Amino acid sequence: MEKIRTRFAPSPTGSMHIGSLRTALYAYALAKHSDGDFILRIEDTDQKREVPGSTEKIKETLKLFGLNWDEYYVQSERAIEGIYKKAAEKLVADGYAFYCNCKAKNAKEEGFSRLLRDPCRDKGLKEGAIKLKTPDGETISYTDYVLGKEISWETLTVADATLLKSDGFPTYHLAVVVDDIDMKISHCLRGHDWLPSTPIHLLVYKYLGVAPIEIGHLTDIQDPSGGKLSKRKGSVSCDEMLSEGYLPEAILNFILLLGWAPKDNRELFNLDDFVKAFDPAGFQKTNPIFNRAKLDWFNGQYLRQKTDEELFKALKPFLKEDWDSQKVKRMIPLTKERMHKLEDFVSLAGFVFEEKEPLVVTDKNRAHIKSATESLERLQEWNKSAIDTALMGAVSENKYHTGDFFMDLRGTISGSRVTPPINDTLVIMGKDEVVARLKKALS
Ligand code: GLU
Repeated sequence: MEKIRTRFAPSPTGSMHIGSLRTALYAYALAKHSDGDFILRIEDTDQKREVPGSTEKIKETLKLFGLNWDEYYVQSERAIEGIYKKAAEKLVADGYAFYCNCKAKNAKEEGFSRLLRDPCRDKGLKEGAIKLKTPDGETISYTDYVLGKEISWETLTVADATLLKSDGFPTYHLAVVVDDIDMKISHCLRGHDWLPSTPIHLLVYKYLGVAPIEIGHLTDIQDPSGGKLSKRKGSVSCDEMLSEGYLPEAILNFILLLGWAPKDNRELFNLDDFVKAFDPAGFQKTNPIFNRAKLDWFNGQYLRQKTDEELFKALKPFLKEDWDSQKVKRMIPLTKERMHKLEDFVSLAGFVFEEKEPLVVTDKNRAHIKSATESLERLQEWNKSAIDTALMGAVSENKYHTGDFFMDLRGTISGSRVTPPINDTLVIMGKDEVVARLKKALS
């Protein structure tokens, strides 16, 4: 069998969507499972849509997720070599394409853009943009590598698509085919959005005299509330997810199962495991749902696999500069089991570093706070067992309800009803800080 060569071909139009990361991941695994090559190709021929800095960002993101490429190409640089122009001119010479000089603006005004057959196709013009001379009355089909079924179109429904713009730059339709041929790509995996472009590509392959490569369209990731996953309903870019405190390994594990399933019920995969287990038969045919609770679950799993030291490093971007690193390190074991996302550390343990508004002290809980303050203030030694003994002593001496007593203490110290184990936390906070907060609340 020929070597498997796949490509990830993003357009540099902004930060990387989670769906694009999935496309890249599948293309990577398909290639690497068989010792093939994974190619990164920047499709920047629509320079009006380009967002500066996106190419670098895409590369950074791929590297962060371990998706290292074997070869790298940039279409705008290849365009300068004239390869796309040459291919388009050959298609004209062979009678499969034609020059068109309708200015984009005029075409629109005259309603040409809505016509599938371009008025210039039989004019025999010698310059202008180059468009595909789509035949009428033919059927064009292929078998989708992912969906596993034959898909066909009547050419009557396929437009005379532009291949080369009048500025000499190719459109996506031409560049994608020329490059996939030139780069000896064996499989193209891409988002479902690109399916309507496929008949155009199939015609270009045919007219260039080359058999089409395997083409597979991935399912659409659905939002739990219905419809396509979109930004309006929560973060969908890799950057946003990382900044919310999802770990790269958790994001990777989560998305690889959104559209692919192993033969067994295994759930935890790192990149290497996925490459080894990868089998195209595992591609799902129904649209997966982006279940955030599941993502949180994965993130929790990976957070807990980290050593405290690793977690401390990962937490750095979420901590305030003036938070005492030693205390942060000591709080990590107390919060690790309770975190879903890195940012949860801040909501769970932030009160240790920054005083919060205590939950209200009323006549009802005042007695609890008062006796906690007195018992703690009396302590000579500040450690877990001394604190346990002092507080439990106060509870039994006064016949308090243990749960209520500790809830009041917790609420006063932290301003919250949910915290890491409170006595352990008091040890880390230190006596002065704890007693001062209690006294302040009482006054
Ligand atoms: N440049 C297209 C994109 O931005 C690539 C589609 C394809 O892989 O053919 O997704």
